[in-house]
Amino acid sequence: MINLVFATGNSGKLREASEILGGDFKLVTPMEIGISEEIPETGKTLKANSLQKAQYLFDKSGCNCFADDTGLEVDDLGGAPGVYTARYAGEDKDFNKNMDKVIQELAIKECEASMAASLGLKVKKVTRKARFKSVVTLIFDGQKHFFEGTLEGKIARAKSGNGGFGYDPIFLSDDYPGLTLADITEEQKNEISHRGKALRAMAGWFAAQA
Ligand code: IMP
Repeated sequence: MINLVFATGNSGKLREASEILGGDFKLVTPMEIGISEEIPETGKTLKANSLQKAQYLFDKSGCNCFADDTGLEVDDLGGAPGVYTARYAGEDKDFNKNMDKVIQELAIKECEASMAASLGLKVKKVTRKARFKSVVTLIFDGQKHFFEGTLEGKIARAKSGNGGFGYDPIFLSDDYPGLTLADITEEQKNEISHRGKALRAMAGWFAAQA
């Protein structure tokens, strides 16, 4: 059994990671080992944030641990929200406000594009293309290892579905045309997701050490 502390307080993420990694891994939360403060996340990139969270846990506990950092990149918004995904619409990290902001900003882009087109101006097409990117940092026996995963898709015009968390209701994955990540089952999401890919890469690294 591989025991790891996972830098999350989000029970949805913990369940997701446990399912993806499978029965060889026992995941423990920071809270369960007495770390209850919010883990700092002040980096300028996903990799920097992921490393900062894992390093913080390792320095505090000495335990083998991992952290993930995820960002949503929307092409028409110049890659935003990116590293600011969690707090895009404010420090309260409200998922609904975050999704509303992305939907509204894309509506403005589409309006600007159609206005410009109506004036005969050359305009860049609004594609609504987006991707989730996850970077996982594992600190095992004091050594750092990084794993990445990406999920390509598009931003929906309206929220749909009751599953998942975060931006799932507005993310149409290329793997399930017409459905958001909140419309599909947890198993279907785990098979294709950014975090699923990064965590399976981590599990593959452990398998290669055996
Ligand atoms: P974190 O790096 O895991 O804290 O994720 C940053 C933000 O990205 C979260 O607050 C969520 O809003 C969003 N997020 C992360 N993973 C997912 C996902 O799988 N689906 C939808 N949103 C996600």
